[in-house]
Amino acid sequence: MKCQQVQRRLSAFLDGELSKKQASRISEHVSGCPHCQQEAESLTATWKQLGEMHEVDPSPHFWIKLNARIAQVEERRFSLERVRGFLDRLLVPATVVAASGVGLWIGGALYDVQRADEPEVWEQVTASLYLDALDDFPAHSIGSDYVELLADQNDL
Ligand SMILES: [Zn+2]
Repeated sequence: MKCQQVQRRLSAFLDGELSKKQASRISEHVSGCPHCQQEAESLTATWKQLGEMHEVDPSPHFWIKLNARIAQVEERRFSLERVRGFLDRLLVPATVVAASGVGLWIGGALYDVQRADEPEVWEQVTASLYLDALDDFPAHSIGSDYVELLADQNDL
């Protein structure tokens, strides 16, 4: 018998739930295997400790409160799922529309850049890429770096 097989049946063995044949095979293995012996000892010690624990009899209010709490959590989860489902339906098309809009805008701007030979045209293109909304970004944020980069290019 392998250690894994023995340890899987150890709890039933110690409880006396196994047939005589199985019990003697396990007993034989455990007596010759220090690893399973240790496992059996720690299992026995744990049970002993559990047996020494005092049973707690909760007050009737405990069950009422517990049931109310479970109902509350389930209700909250249900309403969260409804909100999430609604947002998913709303946000996916909105994100697709926004992303394709930004893509078209950048694509158009880059097409203009490719055609731009003169510095004035380049300046016009970068000016059109400049967003007023990026003005208020904190220093050294990605937004402010982006604005700075655009400003540098405008200086060329
Ligand atoms: Zn073993």
